[in-house]
Amino acid sequence: LGLDAPLIALSGVGKVQAGQLARLGLHTIRDLLYFFPRRYDDFSALKTIAQLEYGQEVTIIGSIQEVHTRRTRRGQTITKAVLEDGSGSIQVTWFNQPYLADRLKRGQQIVVSGRVDEYLGYLTFQSPQWEPLTRQLLNTARIVPVYPLTEGLSARRMRNLVHRTLQAWVRHVPEHLPASVRERVALPDLPTALQQIHFPDDWDRLEQARRRLAFDELFVIQLGVLRQRHEWQSEPGHPVRVPPDTLQHFILSLPFPLTSAQQRALSEIVADMERDRPMSRLLQGDVGSGKTVVAAAAMALVVAAGAQAALMAPTEILAEQHYHTLSRLFESQSALRPRLSLLTGSTPPADKQAIYQGLADGTIDLVVGTHALIQQGVTFKHLVLAIIDEQHRFGVEQRAALRQKGYNPHMLVMTATPIPRSLALTIYGDLDLSIIDEMPPGRQPIETRVLSPLERERAYAFVRAQVEKGRQAFIICPLVEESAKIEARAAVQEHQRLQTQIFPDLRLGLLHGRMKSEDKETVMAQFARGELDILVSTSVVEVGIDVPNATVMLVEGANRFGLAQLHQFRGRVGRGEHPSYCLLIADSATEASQERLQAIAATQDGFLLAEKDLAMRGPGEFFGTRQSGLPDLKLANMADMRLLEVARAEAQRLFDTDPTLTSPDLQPLAQLVARVWSGGGDIS
Ligand code: ADP
Ligand code: MG
Repeated sequence: LGLDAPLIALSGVGKVQAGQLARLGLHTIRDLLYFFPRRYDDFSALKTIAQLEYGQEVTIIGSIQEVHTRRTRRGQTITKAVLEDGSGSIQVTWFNQPYLADRLKRGQQIVVSGRVDEYLGYLTFQSPQWEPLTRQLLNTARIVPVYPLTEGLSARRMRNLVHRTLQAWVRHVPEHLPASVRERVALPDLPTALQQIHFPDDWDRLEQARRRLAFDELFVIQLGVLRQRHEWQSEPGHPVRVPPDTLQHFILSLPFPLTSAQQRALSEIVADMERDRPMSRLLQGDVGSGKTVVAAAAMALVVAAGAQAALMAPTEILAEQHYHTLSRLFESQSALRPRLSLLTGSTPPADKQAIYQGLADGTIDLVVGTHALIQQGVTFKHLVLAIIDEQHRFGVEQRAALRQKGYNPHMLVMTATPIPRSLALTIYGDLDLSIIDEMPPGRQPIETRVLSPLERERAYAFVRAQVEKGRQAFIICPLVEESAKIEARAAVQEHQRLQTQIFPDLRLGLLHGRMKSEDKETVMAQFARGELDILVSTSVVEVGIDVPNATVMLVEGANRFGLAQLHQFRGRVGRGEHPSYCLLIADSATEASQERLQAIAATQDGFLLAEKDLAMRGPGEFFGTRQSGLPDLKLANMADMRLLEVARAEAQRLFDTDPTLTSPDLQPLAQLVARVWSGGGDIS
């Protein structure tokens, strides 16, 4: 039996319980050891009954003086016990736990943890945690782990199972960190960390454990990205070498001068493409900072060199938008005149065949498209540059699939999500980084206001006034955590309410994540064409669509979104000549949420907001790693940036001496890296 053994192999875990655990994503012993508590209840404060005060979270030990269970007329069971500890006595009540009648015995000593309540003027406990004093205490009188649960699996059973598994298995978990790393970073050993993350002796040791396990997550990511980079860069690429005036010529014929940030990014890209190693570069720039034209310049060089380039975007609308932009930009290029095509899911079959043909025989120079570009039938004669827009919308496999359409092509991935440099270097350690941190001149700032729910009517009146001027508006529904399904239902209701009660005379559209992608595209296109006045949407609208006529972004439940995301929403407006507005309505008025929202009202600088967001929420939350295809960060969101830097430095240090992790004492680590990165799965 090893750590990868199925949970059903544990004594006491039968088919039913294994099924319940599977619902929580737990299949192996290792899964269970790495199933971290969601939070902890601190029941370590032990009091005598005489010391109790209303509202305290405490633990008492007492003996049962009397106990009885009865049924109410409504069919509920109520179990009442009186506990006594020499200092006094107290009544404890449990609701709907009929089995307690057999478990609680007169004279028995039990431990009770919970909040001190009050009933008819007497202190009492209502449905507290409890357990017999004799056993090892897991549910009371300590810092108690609180796990995610599922139907049929109680908190007590879960704690019990984790505890038993730890006792039997934690010593068999191989330590994968070299002792030198553990010493330098001052980390506890792995068995200790796992033991303490589940059943901490105190808050200090819990923090140590968390720091250790968070370090592991970051460290393994680092080793993975370093290896990836090493692999890519050890293959030969295609140097793109063209006469120096080619680029100058392209730039001079643009309708505007490039900003100095654009120029800098472009020269980094050009320098990469001239080398015989494939480029892997991330181009970051806030919404509207002008990434497309930089990409176009890189494509122009490829065309001049007689090769092919492809640009992949996450939606049809975006692909079309890029296609039109590029067509316009290249129209004025008398010297180049590339053949440019658009390939998406809705390209008619006959045209599709022609494009496949043109890409295969090299008569098409540039292609813009969606996922349609990575379909099997697509082959290129000589793909030398692959560009991915809004890269975080694609999974790793999709990015890899585009790369594989060429032979080690240069890769340029673009994102409008500003990621602080430190984090970008860590998470995208496999990519070089270019940042466009300057807006083209003449952009109007978007006026941003934080409103209370009481001011909602005013916000609606403002939206209406803008629509009467011929403008359009977005209304974003609150984020619903539970599920996409519930979120979609809420959006449907909100759309219905707004259409019938607030804006019966206006044309409203609806967009949410459960719609089919064709339907989403249809609605977006209608909005882009001005056939809808207001688009009611969930957060799916975030991707870089350009509707210059839209001037109002109204966000409901704004406090529930991250700053970076709010900034993305705001970037949907202010793209045309009209003054634009962003209205943020919070559904909670806590100080923290006010502070966050005021931060976004105070600046238009996406990077500044990203830094703030990161400081407030930590990297894990800031950056949903799932969509980026990176291993899951379960704990690292609680760690600080310092730890991230340390993990990066340690990974680099190890990589410099043994990049392939071949030394015998690094085998547990090599296996961990392989396991984490192969599944794209999480650290456990
Ligand atoms: P994003 O970085 O969000 O993809 P785009 O490439 O769509 O931004 O550019 C946003 C708008 O700014 C486009 O209309 C583009 O033509 C314009 N633009 C880009 N660069 C400049 C510049 N240097 N001067 C003026 N306008 C520019
Ligand atoms: Mg863009």
